[in-house]
Amino acid sequence: MEKETICVQAGWQPKNGEPRVLPIYQSTTFKYETSEQMGKLFDLEESGYFYTRLQNPTNDYVAAKICELEGGVAAMLTSSGQAATYYSVFNICETGDHCIMSSTVYGGTFNLLTCTMKKMGISCTVVDPDWSEEELEKAFKPNTKCVFAETIANPALVVLDIEKFARVAHAHGVPLIVDNTFATPINCNPFKWGADIVTHSTTKYMDGHAMSVGGCIVDSGNFDWTKYPDKFPGLCTPDESYHGIVYTEKFGKLAYISKATSQLMRDLGSIQSPQNAFLLNVGLETLPLRMERHCYNAMKVAEFLESHEKVAWVNYPGLASNKYHELAMKYMPNGTCGVISFGLKGGRSAASKMMDGLKLAAIVTHVADARTCVLHPASHTHRQMTDEQLIEAGVAPDLIRFSVGIENVNDIIADLSQALEQCD
Ligand SMILES: *Cc1c(COP(=O)(O)O)cnc(C)c1O
Repeated sequence: MEKETICVQAGWQPKNGEPRVLPIYQSTTFKYETSEQMGKLFDLEESGYFYTRLQNPTNDYVAAKICELEGGVAAMLTSSGQAATYYSVFNICETGDHCIMSSTVYGGTFNLLTCTMKKMGISCTVVDPDWSEEELEKAFKPNTKCVFAETIANPALVVLDIEKFARVAHAHGVPLIVDNTFATPINCNPFKWGADIVTHSTTKYMDGHAMSVGGCIVDSGNFDWTKYPDKFPGLCTPDESYHGIVYTEKFGKLAYISKATSQLMRDLGSIQSPQNAFLLNVGLETLPLRMERHCYNAMKVAEFLESHEKVAWVNYPGLASNKYHELAMKYMPNGTCGVISFGLKGGRSAASKMMDGLKLAAIVTHVADARTCVLHPASHTHRQMTDEQLIEAGVAPDLIRFSVGIENVNDIIADLSQALEQCD
């Protein structure tokens, strides 16, 4: 099936007399006839639901839809994008291990990998996504377990050369994890280009209506963990906390997600609520329509800004003048995303004044939903970062992040136009 069809039809497949729409299994627990049946579930001898912290049918049907959209073999929902990022790395890294991360990743990911996970004994080397393969090679160590990057970086809008990153990661026997939040599976499938694991903040375009926080991890099933049993003991040697199960032996290509569910979700518990999964599913049904409009509108807004006298610079990978245009055309020929960043000739103070003058575009922390919104990362989301870190992350102090919604683009441009008139 094509993606538009998958978005509407995949996941929940009602049988005779069942509800047409995916039901919300609003139940913490599931009933069994015999004690033995329940026992088999706990031994992972049989598959079935027993407690929503581990798995819930509503969540699983939605995860199955996202899995199909990405072309993976298994997927799981998490309570947030942050939980997805954390689990995706922690599933294969433990104390004493090392990971490599692109410098332009989302601020929350930057903090998680460089600060919080450091306290857990997992170190991280930050690399410039534009480095050559030779330069990237230097970041690898014998204890490196994964490489993490974003398809289109939030908010730097740097487009990742996925094939380059995959080649370098695989040459060192580690998987490439790609956060595909901004591109969405509609505009890019990182697995097609060699990525092994994909993560999402479903809070953004997938939900699309700023209603529910959530995340997702999808496994391509392509990375052969058994080739490096010493590197990935968590997947290739017995799990003491599960009667000595070896995930790669028992679950084959499903090993990575099976471990993340039966171990990390069991112990850390960042499950998505079935209510949120239901809302996410409604969002997914219209994702292709919305992405098309987001990209169309963003292109028009970027062109308007590029020709405006008060605008110093515009960053949108869809623009032919953009540094990443060629990579964007290769990996996302149908469009990138609806987010634009730009700076004003008047700098930081003009940015604040312009933002205060906006009537339709709202100042919110959020990004990537149906309503046009705006944010100044240096004052808001990236406030805790030093100027040096900001620049390394591709976030200029004067950068305005403008998330173009699906309203009529003439109204969005009129709003920007009147707000720009008010600033110096
Ligand atoms: C928002 C975001 C996250 C974090 O997701 P939450 O759902 O807010 O926890 C991770 N990566 C990217 C690219 C994001 O935009």
